[in-house]
Amino acid sequence: MPRTVLVTGGNRGIGLAIAQRFAKQGDRVAVTHRGSEVPAGLYGVRCDITDPEQVDAAFGQIEAELGPVEVLVANAGITADTLLLRMSEEQFSSVLETNLAGSWRCAKRAATKMLRARWGRMIFISSVAGLSGNPGQTNYAASKAGLVGLARSITRELGSRNITANVVAPGMIETDMTAELPEARRKQILGEIPGGRFAQADEVAAAVGFLASDEAGYITGAVLPVDGGLGMGH
Ligand code: NDP
Repeated sequence: MPRTVLVTGGNRGIGLAIAQRFAKQGDRVAVTHRGSEVPAGLYGVRCDITDPEQVDAAFGQIEAELGPVEVLVANAGITADTLLLRMSEEQFSSVLETNLAGSWRCAKRAATKMLRARWGRMIFISSVAGLSGNPGQTNYAASKAGLVGLARSITRELGSRNITANVVAPGMIETDMTAELPEARRKQILGEIPGGRFAQADEVAAAVGFLASDEAGYITGAVLPVDGGLGMGH
């Protein structure tokens, strides 16, 4: 059955691969953007997830055009890497505000309609860094670890209403975000990945597609790594 899907940050990178996968299987797919072009076949809503009013307006627009959001993929995220002692209040709070509070805000807004429908799927895009930590990413790792507590609390609150909340924790994926890595750091990380390679965004999209499916109805509060074994044991 076709669903209405919202992928935050679905205009590029991992979010775009996720959005395109849902579109390909016939779902009605909305993506947020902040002024960029929206790829063909997707319904774009302008929305900065740090602004509660914009989030509410975006959901309203999607509800009017495509119907209530049945599958939420909270994917939008940023980094502002630097070592703990050099990190500013701004670098910490902006990352937390986008990655964690922005996801919470979207989940809260989506839950209203999911509760009414007694069906819903929430998928939060975390990171291997949220589970194992990473030097230079105290802000980012804390925000991504927070998504696990968020998803699991939602699971306990809404689990009995056919609403699942899961976390996907990607490792190293080829996108603009990882393109910024210095070559030496890239090589070092590559040596630590049992799978011996970075992944394509499609490989994350496949995991998200599964968690959103009817078949995954009994999987909730789970953390699914897509990391070539990089974060094993966490
Ligand atoms: P990109 O940097 O390629 O894309 C980030 C996306 O988030 C863009 O669509 C961007 O929109 C959007 N975004 C950022 N801030 C906001 C905001 N305030 N409001 C709305 N949208 C916003 O990232 P990736 O595709 O690499 O990453 C996607 C997710 O996966 C992130 O949460 C990231 O932390 C996570 N991840 C990525 C990994 C990787 O290896 N790449 C590994 C592990 C996790 P805009 O185009 O307007 O800037």
